[in-house]
Amino acid sequence: AWDRLQDDLRSIDGQQYGAYKRLLGKYQHTSPTFTLSVDHVQGDAYASPSRVRAVIPWQETGLPDEYLQSDIRRIALCDFVTRVCASMIRAKHLDQNVSGGGGWSGPKGGALNINSPGQEILPRTSAMIDGNDTIELRFTVSLPAAGRTVLGQQAYQILGVNLVELIKKSLLYPNLDQEQLQLHVQTAENQQSLRHQLAKHNLTAFIANGSVLPRASGASETPMDSATVVPFKSPEDLKVKLLRADGTKQSGMGVPRGVTLLTGGGFHGKSTLLEAIQLGVYNHVPGDGRELVVTDPTAVKIRAEDGRGVTSVDISPFISDLPGGKDTRHFTTDDASGSTSMAANIQEALETGCKTLLIDEDSSATNLLVRDQRMQSLIRNEPITPLVAKARALYNDHGVSTIIVIGGLGDWLSVADLVIGLDSYFPRLLTTEAKSVVAKYPSNVQEAPDYGSLPNRSLQVDLRGLRAPYATRKHFIVLKPEAKSAVDDPSEAEAGIDLSSLDQIVEIGQARTIAKLLQGIAQRTANGAVPVVSLMKSEADAIGIEHCLPTTLEHGDLVGVRRTEVVAALSRVRGLHVS
Ligand code: ADP
Ligand code: MG
Repeated sequence: AWDRLQDDLRSIDGQQYGAYKRLLGKYQHTSPTFTLSVDHVQGDAYASPSRVRAVIPWQETGLPDEYLQSDIRRIALCDFVTRVCASMIRAKHLDQNVSGGGGWSGPKGGALNINSPGQEILPRTSAMIDGNDTIELRFTVSLPAAGRTVLGQQAYQILGVNLVELIKKSLLYPNLDQEQLQLHVQTAENQQSLRHQLAKHNLTAFIANGSVLPRASGASETPMDSATVVPFKSPEDLKVKLLRADGTKQSGMGVPRGVTLLTGGGFHGKSTLLEAIQLGVYNHVPGDGRELVVTDPTAVKIRAEDGRGVTSVDISPFISDLPGGKDTRHFTTDDASGSTSMAANIQEALETGCKTLLIDEDSSATNLLVRDQRMQSLIRNEPITPLVAKARALYNDHGVSTIIVIGGLGDWLSVADLVIGLDSYFPRLLTTEAKSVVAKYPSNVQEAPDYGSLPNRSLQVDLRGLRAPYATRKHFIVLKPEAKSAVDDPSEAEAGIDLSSLDQIVEIGQARTIAKLLQGIAQRTANGAVPVVSLMKSEADAIGIEHCLPTTLEHGDLVGVRRTEVVAALSRVRGLHVS
């Protein structure tokens, strides 16, 4: 019973810090009924924090069972509960700094924490529903210390009092803000509903009228202040109506499948629109401004990424006959150029089931996008066939659409099915004007008759020596080399996977999930044979974000990520083999 928690803490008060280990195990709370499971106790006050779970019977929450009826509802509910906990903790921390006391956090440690979400509604190990029976919340706690000794009373304040309060307020029916919860779940369901209708309407993306696309600043993901923002408004010619989850109609701009150009003057909102589209693979929280912007869930943002490692990727649709006879059907390098990296990024995306490429001229290798007439005449032995010559064939042969932001490369006008111009943030259909421009100033784009085949690698993933990869930030995973080689070799110690070209990774928790999955592969490696990972999977697998979250007990800070991003990270490990 709960008294036992108090007794245990009292009995170890003032003892060496290690006495906290006594807490390992389960404590039962009544009214409300839940089990506190202490899964890991830190070795000292400065070690990474202890991990606890509160496991609550679903019945005890008093929440309607309809929230259990679909994956999306469960995910949205858990995401919501995590947010409520995180913001209560944040408020308490602030409060604490002002008023002192209370044991939420302090100079002697004692912080209770839960992984804090960003703007996307995602599957998270911070809160999980098991079957229809229980919901569990996972916290970290820095158990408080005075020097090297246990502060039993403070620890009880955290685990015995504050945690209980948190559970009551974040999860139990009368306290929980039902309206907010319902809005959160509905918002996620609406996005899912809209996204599911894209294929039927032959669309790759949909941007609802009234959406707020720009962010508060380059360093913030919250929406721009409503006083300055121009809300999104579809041109009449592209207006479509899709159904929200409750059957009501939502109008907005539909981007048809095919080759679409987003163009317009500098600073008129092109990249902002593309960025909203690239994150439309995820569901956004109410109030984000992009919560009715949805995109083909397999869409991948492509960038040039010079310096990346590439292992045996067939980049021959774009590049052949490299100097020195380097094989571009199995292109391998430790240091790709702008164009070869971009070609590899495209081919790898296609390999995992991508049906929509998203590209911004600003972050591309120009020579992979176009080669104008003058360069065609001057350079005869150019090994590159640019995307402008392949985009149509890619769509015809493989059904892969391209949405590309183009400001300065007019050759693209000749291959576009649709040209959308942005004028002071307002989109306009410019296809007809573009066609007459092409007639007036013909260019000499030589379109390739076919795209070539999609790659289909099986990577032999030899991660021997990979002990415990971990994410240091959203876009970096450290791969720890074996201890002996790490000695005095900072470059080795820092060796890792750079994910900064993966614009669709939105939280460090996703990088943690990737690291965890890599570790799983490494452990299989350690047991003997080198595992072979086949990369080409069905489209459903590329989408299945809700099914790839490792739920291991150790981690309450993992966040769902697409298979595409997992494979993208794997592909960037240097020294892979291909079987
Ligand atoms: P481009 O790619 O066309 O050069 P950006 O998308 O980078 O333009 O946008 C330029 C600036 O305009 C950014 O600071 C962005 O936040 C702002 N902006 C974009 N869309 C809107 C909008 N709808 N309302 C107000 N400001 C916007
Ligand atoms: Mg731009």
